[in-house]
Amino acid sequence: MAHDSHGRTIDYLRISVTDRCNLRCVYCMPPEGVEWKPPESILTFEEIEHFASIAVEQGISKIRITGGEPLVRKGLVEHIRRLKAITGLEAIALTTNATLLPQYAEALRNAGLSRINISLDSLDPDVFATITRGGRLADALAGLDAALAVGFHPVKLNVVVVRSLEQDLAAFARLAIDRPVHVRFIEYMPVGDAPLSVRGGHGGGWTEADHVPASEILTALDSALGAEGLGPLQPVGDGSGPEGWGPARYFTIAGAAGTIGVISPLSRHFCGACNRLRLTADGRLRPCLFSDREFDVRTALRDGTDEDIEAIISAALNEKPETHEQRRGTSRRMSQIGG
Ligand code: SAM
Ligand code: SF4
Repeated sequence: MAHDSHGRTIDYLRISVTDRCNLRCVYCMPPEGVEWKPPESILTFEEIEHFASIAVEQGISKIRITGGEPLVRKGLVEHIRRLKAITGLEAIALTTNATLLPQYAEALRNAGLSRINISLDSLDPDVFATITRGGRLADALAGLDAALAVGFHPVKLNVVVVRSLEQDLAAFARLAIDRPVHVRFIEYMPVGDAPLSVRGGHGGGWTEADHVPASEILTALDSALGAEGLGPLQPVGDGSGPEGWGPARYFTIAGAAGTIGVISPLSRHFCGACNRLRLTADGRLRPCLFSDREFDVRTALRDGTDEDIEAIISAALNEKPETHEQRRGTSRRMSQIGG
């Protein structure tokens, strides 16, 4: 078991396999995309697998593959199959915008992928196209269908709530009534400096005005559902809900096939229960999403020894901050860190 210097057990590694993406979500990437990292700076799959096997020996038992959009990287399915074979790794999950899942869902399941989280911020085709700058809702929904059809369970739908995007949150609640999906509303976080340029938006990055606290999300949902004769939202058990590795609080609606959750990194931050490290696509180990402190793993993977890599993991654990203290902004965008 790995512990950090604040006594937290660290057993969860998020690995970004690419900084590239086939969408351009307004809160994540600028319209022209970010300047892609040169290919030689991106870890090869072999390097990631080498790092992962050492991290698992050090106490990591769960890995999530993210990006950018992980499914745009060629060879991902075989990479997941090889990661799954690491002795001691209990589970491997994927975070994706789902648009390429119709093509890959079955192969991912066969490769041993344990879980899928789908990011989907609106069920209205026009709003979806605005948020993703040209994405097609039908592609993402086909991806969700494909994930369910091949038997991924649970499928979690992550919805980032941004006030000026004016999303219809009740539409997601209706989806969770009809289908076995766990919808999680996530507070918009001050990561990167991406100008939010939607609907003549304000530009200049994250603002307090666009942050909707989870309590407000729940109140708005309850009243929208109540107006339709649905609801109320009731906490699921002890609030931990469907199996997961994160800090969501879950609710249910009578007769619903799925659940509703909220994740509140800002209004109720959960640093005390943080169990994760992040590996960026260019080989930097990041102890905290909100801190720009990073450790160079790539050089150790290319020119060093396994002992060097172990020492870097120990240093990252030692320097994992106790809390993000409501920090605003990071030098990298979410697509470059791996959300
Ligand atoms: N492309 C994949 C996807 O969209 O699921 C994986 C990478 S994406 C960076 C991972 C997650 O980060 C997505 O759910 C996205 O909505 C979320 N995200 C990006 N920027 C965010 C922000 N500023 N606040 C909260 N979530 C954010
Ligand atoms: Fe791409 Fe995911 Fe960022 Fe959207 S949130 S631009 S899908 S990496």
